[in-house]
Amino acid sequence: LRANNSEAVAYDTVQSLSKAEQVAQHYNTRRELGVEGRMHTKITGLRTFNNWVKTVLINENTTPGCKVLDLGCGKGGDLRKWAYARIGEYVGMDIAQVSVLQAENRYKEMRSPSFSASFFAQDCYGEPLEKTIRPPNYQADIVSAQFCLHYAFESEAKVKQMLHNVSSHLRSGGKFIFTVPDANWLVKMMRTKNSETFGNSVYQVKFAQREPITCYGFAYDFTLDEAVEDCTEYLVHMPSFVSLAETYGLKLVYKQGFHHFYGEKITVKKNLDLIFKMRVVDETRPEISAHEWEAIGIYLAVVFEKE
Ligand code: SAM
Repeated sequence: LRANNSEAVAYDTVQSLSKAEQVAQHYNTRRELGVEGRMHTKITGLRTFNNWVKTVLINENTTPGCKVLDLGCGKGGDLRKWAYARIGEYVGMDIAQVSVLQAENRYKEMRSPSFSASFFAQDCYGEPLEKTIRPPNYQADIVSAQFCLHYAFESEAKVKQMLHNVSSHLRSGGKFIFTVPDANWLVKMMRTKNSETFGNSVYQVKFAQREPITCYGFAYDFTLDEAVEDCTEYLVHMPSFVSLAETYGLKLVYKQGFHHFYGEKITVKKNLDLIFKMRVVDETRPEISAHEWEAIGIYLAVVFEKE
């Protein structure tokens, strides 16, 4: 049902875009809430908790002065985390051009950042990075892909291109760190609820089908309050990914669900202090809601090492 012609045109345009272009358009049109705005939403606890996970992951896998390649950098929300880790050089890439510009502006607004930075709008899963990255034989100490790798799982070809991009721009001994939805968790939830659609007041998952579950292109629409709306994502089948990654010289060294990650890392005082410093909880929001905690459980923190 279409209300008027202009809506019909917009609808037809979206339908004719490739999946990757639809993702880019989705993120390009998300409004920027600003720091204060982000502190007062239904998912502020979840958002700040996820930021804490990324900070701990970054701090544990970086050394001062290191070179970082951030694939799917978005609007540059992690720039301060990299600054805190005292990295030396940063390259940010994302398919969404508007987000890349916002990230670049965010960097320019940073007060005396300790690192140099460059930004490129590029599809990191559908194309070789050599297309834009300079020098073409650029090597990073860390490749990071936060909350974005699952978009590559639309097809095997994209996962292979992504692995080539990561592996060929990561030095030997370098780390590939990422956060991604846990396919096991999602499928288990679908089976437990006996429904393709499930969620709560902060998130919703809609699978198009229940079976047969395939390694690539198994899609679901994901909504997270104030963050993404009905965005098509793909299951990341970890066992096949781990064996495929090995053929690109990338070896799994760490994989943990966010709930367990919290239990493990919170025992370190520095990480506990960060919970308060980053206002994951504070006087106005003393705890993360049960609904947010359930949504947090969707994700995995993963580290690979280049041979
Ligand atoms: N990494 C950022 C963070 O943690 O705040 C942004 C995460 S956001 C949930 C997912 C990002 O993945 C979006 O900025 C989107 O444009 C990007 N993305 C999706 N597909 C991509 C692709 N093929 N190449 C590069 N970036 C992509």
